[in-house]
Amino acid sequence: MIQSQGYAAQQSTTPLAPFSFTRRDPKERDVVVEIEYCGVCHSDIHSTRNEWGNAIYPMVPGHEIIGRVTAIGSGVSRFKAGDRVGVGVIVDSCRTCASCRNNEEQYCEVGVTLTYGAYDRYGELTQGGYSNNIVVDEHFVHAISTKLDPAGVAPLLCAGITTYSPLRHWQVGPGKKVGVVGLGGLGHMGLKFAHSFGAHVVQFTTSESKIADAKRLGADEVVISKNADAMKKEANSFDFILDTVSAVHDLNAYLSLLKRDGVYCQVGLPDRPPVINMGNLLFKRRSLSGSIIGGMAETQQMLDYCADHNIVSDVEIIPIQRINEAFERVVKADVKYRFVIDMASLGKR
Ligand SMILES: [Zn+2]
Ligand SMILES: [Zn+2]
Repeated sequence: MIQSQGYAAQQSTTPLAPFSFTRRDPKERDVVVEIEYCGVCHSDIHSTRNEWGNAIYPMVPGHEIIGRVTAIGSGVSRFKAGDRVGVGVIVDSCRTCASCRNNEEQYCEVGVTLTYGAYDRYGELTQGGYSNNIVVDEHFVHAISTKLDPAGVAPLLCAGITTYSPLRHWQVGPGKKVGVVGLGGLGHMGLKFAHSFGAHVVQFTTSESKIADAKRLGADEVVISKNADAMKKEANSFDFILDTVSAVHDLNAYLSLLKRDGVYCQVGLPDRPPVINMGNLLFKRRSLSGSIIGGMAETQQMLDYCADHNIVSDVEIIPIQRINEAFERVVKADVKYRFVIDMASLGKR
């Protein structure tokens, strides 16, 4: 067994605290990664606090993992010791269902194995990236260019692919008018990608204070969503709107902004269902859709695109000793735009 150190929640009401545990010795196709950085995703907070009702403890969260390969199994072909690599939200899937065979492992019909808080095919509880190492099948490990700042790359493994995949699926690019709702960890990546793909991008926000930042990140226009007149001016004009907000909010005000055949895609996951005025869909043949992360091939494609176009997340680096304070600040949306843990802090006080 491999010895691991990390920070875990022991139950839903306790703060994260130091925790020692073991991981499996590498099997034939496994890669052992020494973790350098791990992003702090809002899911980590929902999960450790059992806000989705399916938590298994003790739980070491973290699924935006960057590190270096330290060992490989005998059958590993894509990586060698010393390579910089990334691990995201899932670490296994069935590999044989229609979705897996179509490189859409995230929609595996048998069910994916989450990077933390799930039982894997060996019956072991998975533990995430708020730790010094991880053992993962190479199919779920990504090559990371050393051209980019590794701390800024970490959030690409969840926030990046979550926004990149739907923008690609619905072919956002030149000549398209695209809206991004919410400017947080997900939203700021959606904005960067939509801008980079050549679309005309409109950022929606509730806060005047975010206008300058949205423009810096690539918005052509910023609309304050509380301003009914400003919203009305945008009616029937969008090809695609990416909604990154996970708090319950009114979708109808946005649906009416889509053109005929426009698509509204939800990537935030509110904990209560929205009320939809079906007229907003029927009368313009609009679609309401959703999307979650991306397949392994597409995730690699996204990482390569980011290396070619010099795209990383805007991050605030913290030592792991400040993780509980960082959770509180994420809940208050007080971060620009992602906390990333420097895992070198783990052995320090
Ligand atoms: Zn995430
Ligand atoms: Zn499958």
